[in-house]
Amino acid sequence: MMIRASVLHQPHLYLTPENPTQSSKLRVREQECSSLLQKCNSMDEFKQTHGRILKFGLGFDACTASNLIAACALSIWGSMDYASSILHKIDDPTQFTFNTMIRGYVKDSEPEAALFMYKAMQERDVKPDNFTYPSLLKGCAHMSALREGMQIHGHAFKFGLESDLYVQNSLINMYGKCGEIKHSCRVFEQMVQRSVASWSALIASHNSLGLWEECLDLFGKMSSEGWRADESTLVSLLSSCTHLGALDFGRCTHGYLIRNMRGPNVIVQTSLIDMYAKCGCLEKGLSIFENMPKKNLLSYSAMITGLAMHGEGRKALRVFSDMLGKGLKPDDIVYVGVLSACSHAGLVDEGLQCFNRMRFEHRMVPTVQHYGCLVDLMGRAGKLDEAYELIRNMPTEPNEVVWRCLLGACKVHHNLELGEEASRNLFQLDPNNVGDYMLLSNIYAKALRWDDVAKARINMVQRVSSQMPGFSTVEVKRKVHKFVSQDKSHPHSNQVYEMLHQMGWQLRFEGYTPDTTQVLFNVDEEEKRRLLGSHSQKLAIAFALIQTSQGLKIRIVKNLRMCNDCHTFTCLISMIFKRTITVRDRNRFHHFKEGRCSCGDYW
Ligand code: ZN
Ligand code: ZN
Repeated sequence: MMIRASVLHQPHLYLTPENPTQSSKLRVREQECSSLLQKCNSMDEFKQTHGRILKFGLGFDACTASNLIAACALSIWGSMDYASSILHKIDDPTQFTFNTMIRGYVKDSEPEAALFMYKAMQERDVKPDNFTYPSLLKGCAHMSALREGMQIHGHAFKFGLESDLYVQNSLINMYGKCGEIKHSCRVFEQMVQRSVASWSALIASHNSLGLWEECLDLFGKMSSEGWRADESTLVSLLSSCTHLGALDFGRCTHGYLIRNMRGPNVIVQTSLIDMYAKCGCLEKGLSIFENMPKKNLLSYSAMITGLAMHGEGRKALRVFSDMLGKGLKPDDIVYVGVLSACSHAGLVDEGLQCFNRMRFEHRMVPTVQHYGCLVDLMGRAGKLDEAYELIRNMPTEPNEVVWRCLLGACKVHHNLELGEEASRNLFQLDPNNVGDYMLLSNIYAKALRWDDVAKARINMVQRVSSQMPGFSTVEVKRKVHKFVSQDKSHPHSNQVYEMLHQMGWQLRFEGYTPDTTQVLFNVDEEEKRRLLGSHSQKLAIAFALIQTSQGLKIRIVKNLRMCNDCHTFTCLISMIFKRTITVRDRNRFHHFKEGRCSCGDYW
């Protein structure tokens, strides 16, 4: 071990073992050092210990230096700057020390510094090992840095570490985070030996890229090969179930958790709350939440958002005040949840109180999202002028969401003048949303301004091709079925259309006439009825009515906002077929029961 010249000028800091007694003394001191380091709980304690170690004369031998760096770089109280200052005082850092520094930088979300450290390691001819690459790849994943990630992959290959299990697991994760799922799959397929972490990385990659159905399939494959999922796999799986609205699959995952894990942690329980609430089973979500021994900000946030989506404003406010009572400080996501809960339940005064509390008590600067909730809240209550005033006096530029909320409110309360103002601003920010032209055309239609209706519809038709296609999913017997509007690709398609035809007769008997103003295409009335009749939500409901037994709740998830006609249709079906139907659209839940919807026709 070399020592820097500056250190040599302080001979008392460095003792050279000259005889066996001294050497054994030194070993005792080394042990003493490492136990002292283990006891450190803060940077101050660490600095004191560091000082003592220097006095022992041990600070610069390879073993103690790497222990010092490890304690300082990897502890939660640690400091990478300080670790780096220790590193600079030793002349030939080992592979272990470099690995520790790289790991520390990645842990501290400084992946670029980790890459520089790797470069320094190469410049000093220190060989990397199978601990070096997982951290580096994690850093690349963090930055979504595909090019650097591929270079690191190349280096791992060069050093013969490409087929190391840890390196491969990290590669799957890195490629997934960089959006290159094909590369993730290729690494996985080429693995000679796999671990639970390999499956977990592959499933998490699919989940983060929105490939939720594939996640459920992969889990099936994993189980059939005899693997037992770990907690992180189950969290990815629950997230996929949440997005798909796959309640039965989610329930099975919950059962799996109960059978295989002793006391799931806060993260898993929060995922369960989120899954149950967003799959339409709010009660179950609430009961898990209430029985949680330890709740954190994320658990409260998931519960409040869940309650908000179901229009349970008062309950959301109770959970919020419980959270404040526990001394937790709300963040801006919690406030979005609380404000949208007030808005969905029409609690105007309470919403305004929360907004003020956010600004003055918690000293937070409301974002445009919070203003959006507030505009929605006032709009719902018919306070359109106040909502407009609020938008005009916002400290930040209003975005399209804010204007869209106002436009929606103008449609409900038939305010033509403000509706035009909102749409003018909205179309400047986002000229391509078909739904917005639909709202405007509805406002004109109510005011009998047919020329303007026609203009709005021309705009609509021009933009329809750029729209994301609408789809609805429904889960039957633990399998998720997806329907696109006008879909004929489903294996049960014939039965579905036959069922829709029969439903049509019963609906007409109840006085239903299709609202053909909701059709975007310029076709004759007959064709409009046909297009309207096969909206994805209706196909999914028809399919669920055939496939599930009487009395069972039907749960639909759709990607877009529900159209007026599908809303009326579903209300009537819930009455005629005596079924509770829950639909989660882009914004919220609609619970249809006995001919009424929980949203009170405001959505
Ligand atoms: Zn529809
Ligand atoms: Zn509704």
